[in-house]
Amino acid sequence: MSDLRFDDRVAVVTGGGRGLGRAYALLLAGQGAKVVVNDPGGSLTGDSDDASPADDVVREITAAGGEAVANTDSVATPEGGKAIIATALERYGRIDVLVHNAGIVRRASLKEMTYDDFEAVVDVHLRGAFHVVRPAFPAMCDAGYGRIVLTSSIGGLYGNHEVANYAVAKAGVIGLSNVAAMEGAAHGVKSNVIVPAAVTRMAQGIDTSAYPPMGPELVAPVVGWLGHESCSITGEILVALAGRVARAVVTETPGVYRPSWSISDVGEHMSAIRDMSETVVFPVVPDGHGEHIRYSFGMARQTADATRETGGVLHA
Ligand code: NAD
Repeated sequence: MSDLRFDDRVAVVTGGGRGLGRAYALLLAGQGAKVVVNDPGGSLTGDSDDASPADDVVREITAAGGEAVANTDSVATPEGGKAIIATALERYGRIDVLVHNAGIVRRASLKEMTYDDFEAVVDVHLRGAFHVVRPAFPAMCDAGYGRIVLTSSIGGLYGNHEVANYAVAKAGVIGLSNVAAMEGAAHGVKSNVIVPAAVTRMAQGIDTSAYPPMGPELVAPVVGWLGHESCSITGEILVALAGRVARAVVTETPGVYRPSWSISDVGEHMSAIRDMSETVVFPVVPDGHGEHIRYSFGMARQTADATRETGGVLHA
């Protein structure tokens, strides 16, 4: 198949032994990348180890003429993260693409969730992202090139029942990606977030019989593009679900400025505060943080100037 190539590029895919990660690893390797397939195996709740998923994917890649190496460290510890990235650097001498995709699920209502279940999920999804980004990022900056893809979820954007641990972690990776995008911009390093959905073992217990086609192969090309040299975006979030590819974005209403507020003023202005007819977006890169502050200051200053011009009479 003729598609964008990854010749001479080295990719790391965490959780690359099954489901979505396996599809990413196979696609990248099929397009010429050398791939570190990281996966300690184990159950959906992250309780056990099993080297075979990573080994199986490496066998599949090499049988098709590609190049890959298995790594079975866990992303859940700083040492594991370092070892995963070291595998790429020691074996192939570089790291161009990092896809943090590893994941586990432990369900419980917010009333009942244990700290153990909270920590275990945050360790893999969110701390795990930091554990691999932290060693990969300086290597990418030094090389003047890098593509980072972190994995969020619909649950990270909108929440979901019985997964407070997962929702927290999946929202958190967006913050990490945004900072990597800002700090990486001067060094040729781009970082984005994928919000995937596919029928994998994570769908266990859900009746998927009425779903449209929803395999991991419908998500993999989006991650492939985010990992490719031609990727033109950074600090963004792409959604890929059942063949729909879209951008998710944080928007704000213009808001209402007043030089002082009472509690009842807030309530009285709520429909204008929430008015979505003209929304504002502050792209993360080059300076969403600064733009946000300048926009708010601008409203304050405009009103102050107008007050001066009208001799201190402030029109509502
Ligand atoms: P999956 O269970 O099929 O694959 C996840 C892989 O991560 C497994 O092979 C597992 O062994 C590995 N893993 C678990 N703990 C690990 C650790 N500590 N270190 C390294 N690897 C580890 O699940 P999937 O559906 O392919 O999910 C992949 C990613 O996509 C996850 O981050 C998940 O949260 C996210 N996601 C999936 C869906 C979906 O619909 N399937 C929706 C939203 C987000």
